[in-house]
Amino acid sequence: MIDETWIPRTQLGKMVASGEIKTMSEALRTKLPLKEYQIVDYLLPGLKDEVIDIERAQRMTDSGRRMSYSVTAVVGNEDGFIGVGRGKAKEAAPAIRKAINNAKLNILEIRRGCGSWECGCGKAHSLPFMVHGKSGSVEVTVKPAPQGVGRAVGDIPKIVLRMAGIDDVWGFALGHTKTTVNYALAVFDAMKGTAKMKVNPALKLTTPIYVGSVASASSDTN
Ligand SMILES: [Zn+2]
Repeated sequence: MIDETWIPRTQLGKMVASGEIKTMSEALRTKLPLKEYQIVDYLLPGLKDEVIDIERAQRMTDSGRRMSYSVTAVVGNEDGFIGVGRGKAKEAAPAIRKAINNAKLNILEIRRGCGSWECGCGKAHSLPFMVHGKSGSVEVTVKPAPQGVGRAVGDIPKIVLRMAGIDDVWGFALGHTKTTVNYALAVFDAMKGTAKMKVNPALKLTTPIYVGSVASASSDTN
């Protein structure tokens, strides 16, 4: 949802509002700090959000009990863009809002592909290669899988991968996966791995690697 009352304050925000920057990919490639979540609303209007964890904590003060809420949320366009964020507040609703907005500020353009030798279809339904991620005690490995396998991972990675637009993977995790926050952040860290991995330009790729949204059909072969 685009906030009509948004007045951009940052350089990147101004470039987006003026139309100088038209896509999320362009915005991220400027390397300018992303400090206004409205930029993401503007450039990815179909973005979805999902709350995956709400922790309620209670502490005693002189005036009695005080509650606080820590929320973890995922945002994604189900087509190459994903973000995970956390928010904390005294009430649940503002904590959820903060978590979603922070997830937007953490948005990441991932790489997809068909890295499964058993498949080789060349479409963006899986990962181009195996990736690892870590957060706290949780370590995850996510591997390319052929079409039809689905998301053969735990419930939390399933949500993150669906929001990212990855349909078929195999994965496994080590550590305290009951700690939802770390589990989600470890998968998000693995997604960062798809973007960071240097692909050797001398390597002959048999299938293309897709960057970000397939709808805008950007693929790099190096
Ligand atoms: Zn395939």
